[in-house]
Amino acid sequence: MTGTLQRGREALIVGGGLAGATLGILLARQGRDVEILEQSAGMHHKVCGEFLSGEAVEYLERLGVSPRSLGAVTMHGVRLHARGLLAACELPFPAMSLTRRALDEALLSLAERAGAVVSRGRRVDRLMRDEDSWRATLLSAEAVTAPAAFLATGKHDLAGHRRPAGRQNSLVAFKMYFRLLPEQERALSGWVELFLFPGGYAGLQMVEDNQANLCLVVERSRLERCGRDWPRLLAHMLRCSTALAERLDGAEPLLPKPLALSSIPYGLLMQPAQDGLWRLGDQAAVIPSFSGDGMSIALHSAHLAAEMYMRGGTAAEYARKLRRELRPAVQLATMFSRLMVRAPVLAQAVRLWPGVLAHCASHTRVPEEALLMETFQLRRRGAEPW
Ligand SMILES: Cc1cc2nc3c(=O)[nH]c(=O)nc-3n(C[C@H](O)[C@H](O)[C@H](O)COP(=O)(O)OP(=O)(O)OC[C@H]3O[C@@H](n4cnc5c(N)ncnc54)[C@H](O)[C@@H]3O)c2cc1C
Repeated sequence: MTGTLQRGREALIVGGGLAGATLGILLARQGRDVEILEQSAGMHHKVCGEFLSGEAVEYLERLGVSPRSLGAVTMHGVRLHARGLLAACELPFPAMSLTRRALDEALLSLAERAGAVVSRGRRVDRLMRDEDSWRATLLSAEAVTAPAAFLATGKHDLAGHRRPAGRQNSLVAFKMYFRLLPEQERALSGWVELFLFPGGYAGLQMVEDNQANLCLVVERSRLERCGRDWPRLLAHMLRCSTALAERLDGAEPLLPKPLALSSIPYGLLMQPAQDGLWRLGDQAAVIPSFSGDGMSIALHSAHLAAEMYMRGGTAAEYARKLRRELRPAVQLATMFSRLMVRAPVLAQAVRLWPGVLAHCASHTRVPEEALLMETFQLRRRGAEPW
């Protein structure tokens, strides 16, 4: 292609979020010639509740990233506020919270130290297969070719590789940081709090540097009724949840405007494709926020892809296995998420079965027997064939 700088690698990874950076680390540590193409030029915020489950913390620590030393805050319980009802439970696993700004950057810099080529500020425009090689064309008039390609662009679809709709497609997400008053911070400390309001639900928790992360999803129709306007949406939530109003009364917003994300295919589990492309993280499965564990799925998919690729497995075999492992958790989390946007139904469920929260927290995670805790070696409890 005229005027295009082209380089060849053994493997190329499109997207350097949790899944892409983790895969880059694992392959580079095995001496593989791998390049990560990441569109952001430096540290940046992402729409995310920033809750790290026990599995996610363990995957990160074994990779060599310590959430605690990056400032992560420990979480021990979850509270659900629904129509004046409060349900609380201890988390059935040790958990933390940490901003994606800090976490994603730590992973990318570890990938670089491991020997991966990390190309920042590089947005991939197209990813195409020419005979037995993949070619990623960048907006910066560069191209990278490789026999193996891994798609890890998270929520963002690449032209020509659009994901189908999920099972819950009507939600729009927002994130905003707040500085709480000291008594509000004390009351929230160590807890993830979920607040239901008509048309959506919000999660609030402390992250590092004494910031509180408010992350929420809302039905598109409700957002329209609020004139697609953040102050009106926030006012709606505070009016409908006195518990949230108490937490945020007098709190100072820390971003000039919230981050937003639409078109999220919640509940999607990709079918194994025959195109030979390895799909990781949110490109493979999208578990609803707050009811599921998207970051540990991203980390797990990277470990599984690395292991199977190193052993000579195919993208289709990997996709089949990942789908089998994740299906029960994604289905349960999607059902729970649908209930959460119908607050009265969930409030009634919690009233009748107070253990529902703990049950969901335990069953919407990557199953323990699937975890790959020793890279390319044994699972926690015995190895299972592909
Ligand atoms: C509202 C909300 C709340 C959530 N809360 C939580 C939570 O509390 N806990 C949890 O575990 N999970 C949560 N999740 C899910 C979690 O954020 C995702 O599952 C996780 O980030 C997926 O990781 P990933 O690596 O697949 O994608 P990402 O982390 O999104 O990374 C994708 C990367 O690809 C890059 N990229 C995209 N397009 C291109 C391109 N064309 N070229 C080059 N680079 C590109 C992006 O810049 C990005 O860095 C939440 C999600 C949402 C929407």
